[in-house]
Amino acid sequence: MLAKPNWQTILADGYTDPQKLLDDLGLSDIDVSAHRLFRTRVPRPFADKIEPNNPNDPLLLQVLPIADEFIEVEGFVADPLAEQQFNPISGLLHKYRSRVLLTFQGACAINCRYCFRRHFDYADNHINAKQLEKVIDYIRQHPHINEVILSGGDPLMAKDKIIQKAIEQFEALPQLKRFRIHTRLPIVIPERITDELVQMLTKTRLRSVIVLHCNHPKEIDEHFAKHIRPLTDNGVQLLNQSVLLKGVNDNADILTELSEKLFDYRIMPYYLFLLDKVSGAAHFNIEEDVAQKLIRDLAAQLPGYLVPKLTRETAGMTSKDMWV
Ligand code: SF4
Repeated sequence: MLAKPNWQTILADGYTDPQKLLDDLGLSDIDVSAHRLFRTRVPRPFADKIEPNNPNDPLLLQVLPIADEFIEVEGFVADPLAEQQFNPISGLLHKYRSRVLLTFQGACAINCRYCFRRHFDYADNHINAKQLEKVIDYIRQHPHINEVILSGGDPLMAKDKIIQKAIEQFEALPQLKRFRIHTRLPIVIPERITDELVQMLTKTRLRSVIVLHCNHPKEIDEHFAKHIRPLTDNGVQLLNQSVLLKGVNDNADILTELSEKLFDYRIMPYYLFLLDKVSGAAHFNIEEDVAQKLIRDLAAQLPGYLVPKLTRETAGMTSKDMWV
């Protein structure tokens, strides 16, 4: 019997040439030169869920570089959250009083065209072992910090042993209560939930929280559910955040189906973000009043606990803006 491929092998086998992706989907005559603005990266398990011959497939729209990305739109900028101002030391964002966010890894398994960090300078802003020491010192000097968030890029791009070492250093700080990971990787490559990862997240004294990023019900299936079950079975809290994207999920029935499916897999819908106004992504934007109407429609179809909070991060603010 052939051994099952591990997540790194699957990652290495992903699409990095948008034309090859189009060819395999039976599509042609789409200008993909915006690839040079932000390079294409699509793992095969995600690409396999895209409907062939459908240029409007909601998963394809999230990853295909299209000519609209060249259109400059007023108000859409390179750093929409002005994050650099909350960057006291390289690799650490301290925006909210009780928690710090670490850009733990620069890369992602998938490059989402709407990403608000598509222009972020990861080369100078990811964590190595030396940098982690400085982060630990910073946390020690700010005793009100009780939660560390690993973000990125995608923090699960790090090898398990690197994550394990970081957890051990965080555990040694008595002020820390929780350890959170923001990731899209298990959605696009479910095999990333390795036995080792499950072990380290369930054995630590810190309460582990994983915030997934799934935008459309087609992105998750039983294969995904099988891989995350050891986490939910062992008490890891799973939440989901989505980004509201024109043409992808700006529809109450789709968002209802997403919330239902997430809950079936024991994941709580958490946030529905309005698009951060990053240059190159204006074609995904949904106006606030349209989004508010969508949420009201959603609330009419779902119990309150399955309605995600409609939210926008605002530059310079130290809490999120929320709308019901
Ligand atoms: S996975 Fe997240 S951080 Fe990475 S490109 Fe997509 S939205 Fe951006």
